[in-house]
Amino acid sequence: MTAWRNLSLSTQILAALIAGLIVGLLFNFLSPSLPVLATINTQVFGTIGNLFMSALKLLVVPLVFVSLVVGTTSLSDPAKLGRLGVGTMLFYLATTAFAIVLALIGAKIVNPGVGVNMALPSGYEAPEAPPVSEVLVGIVPSNPVAALAEGNMLQIIFFAILLGLAIMLSGKPGERIKAAFEDWNHVVMQIVNIVMVFAPIGVFALMAGVVAKLGFESLAPLLKYFMTVLVVLLIHLFISYPLLLKLFSGLNPVTFIKKMRPAMLFAFSTSSSNATIPVNLRTAREALGVPNQISSFTIPLGATINMDGTAIMQGVAVIFIAQVYGIDLTLAQLGTVVIMAVLASVGTAGVPGVGLVMLATVLTQVGVPVEGIAMIIGIDRLLDMTRTAVNITGDAAVTAIMAKREGVLDEAMYNDPRAQVELD
Ligand code: ASP
Repeated sequence: MTAWRNLSLSTQILAALIAGLIVGLLFNFLSPSLPVLATINTQVFGTIGNLFMSALKLLVVPLVFVSLVVGTTSLSDPAKLGRLGVGTMLFYLATTAFAIVLALIGAKIVNPGVGVNMALPSGYEAPEAPPVSEVLVGIVPSNPVAALAEGNMLQIIFFAILLGLAIMLSGKPGERIKAAFEDWNHVVMQIVNIVMVFAPIGVFALMAGVVAKLGFESLAPLLKYFMTVLVVLLIHLFISYPLLLKLFSGLNPVTFIKKMRPAMLFAFSTSSSNATIPVNLRTAREALGVPNQISSFTIPLGATINMDGTAIMQGVAVIFIAQVYGIDLTLAQLGTVVIMAVLASVGTAGVPGVGLVMLATVLTQVGVPVEGIAMIIGIDRLLDMTRTAVNITGDAAVTAIMAKREGVLDEAMYNDPRAQVELD
C-alpha cells in the first residue's frame, strides 16, 4: 500500500490501465462459464466507470469557461487575441484536413471493405446527426446561461471569448473582474486535483469494463478496418505532428512526444478530449513551457474543435462502408468527405463516441448508407480510445507552435527532460 502511494499518479494510472486490461480479458474469457461475471462487469465496473466519467464531466463547463476567459483577458490587447485566434484556428483546421487526406489515402491502399459481407445487427437504428449548417449557426448563444447549463461547448467558447474581450476593454472594473476570474481558475484547478486522486480506480474500471465486454475476438471480421484506422492514427501521431513541430517551430519532436505520454494515457483511458483538458493544460504549462496566456486559450478550444483522430476514423470508415455496399466514390465525393469531416470535427464534442454519430453527417453527404455505422459500432470504443489520444496531442502540438511563434515559449523548460507532468 505504501509502495503504491509512493508511485506518481501517472504510474498509478498506467498500472491501473494494464490491470484493467488483464482483468477484462479474464472476465471475457471466463464469463461464458461464469455468468455472474457479466453482472459484476455492469454493476461494479460499469458503476465505478460511470461515476468517474461524471466527475470528469462536471469539471468541463467550469474549466473551459473560466480558463478561456482568463486566457482571453491575459492576451493584453485585442490585436494579439485576433492573431492568436486566427493562427490557432488555421492550424487546427489545416491539421484536420491533412489527417483526413492521409486517412483516405490509407483506406484506398488497403481497401478494408472489399470482400466484407456483414449483416447489420437487428434492431439497429441509424443515428441522426445535426446538419453542419446548424452546428455553425448555433455557435452564437441566444442565452449564455442556457449554453452553460446544457454544456454546449461551441456556444460556451464564443461567450467566454466575448466576455474576456469585454473585460480586456473595460479598464478598472475589467481589472477587478479579471483578478476574480484568475482566482476562480485557481480554485477550479483544485477541483481537478481532487478528482484526479480517483483516476487510477476510474481508469481500471473503464478499461476492465470495455475489454470484458468486447474481448479481442470481436475484432476478427473488422480487423482490416481496425488496423487501417490504427495505422493511420499512429502515422499522424508519430510522423505528421513531429514534422509539423519541426517545420513550424523548430522544436524537438522527440521531446514533445515523451512529454505528452501522461496526457495521451489519460485520453486513451477516458476516450474524452474534454476530460483530458486538465491534464493537457498542465502538460502545456509544466512540461512544454507554454505560458498560461496561450495554453488556457488554445487547449480548451482544441479539445472542442480540433479532432484529427476522429477525422481519420471518419475517412477510413466512409471508404470502408462504401466498399462494403459496393459504392465507388468519385474524386469529387472524396473532396466532399474532406470538407465534411473537417466541419464534423468542429462540431464533434470531446466526449466518448460522438465521432461515430457525426460520421452519419459525412456519410449522408456522399450518399453512403448511414446504416453502415452499425457494422463498426461494436469495435468503436477501442478506436475511440486511440483517436482521442491523437486528438489531444494535436491540440498540444499546435499550442507549443503558437507559443513559440508568439515568442513566449519557455524553451529551457521544453528541453528539460525533468519537466514532466507527474499528475500528483
Ligand atoms: N472521443 C473523442 C474525443 O473526445 C471524440 C470522438 O471521436 O468520438 O476526442
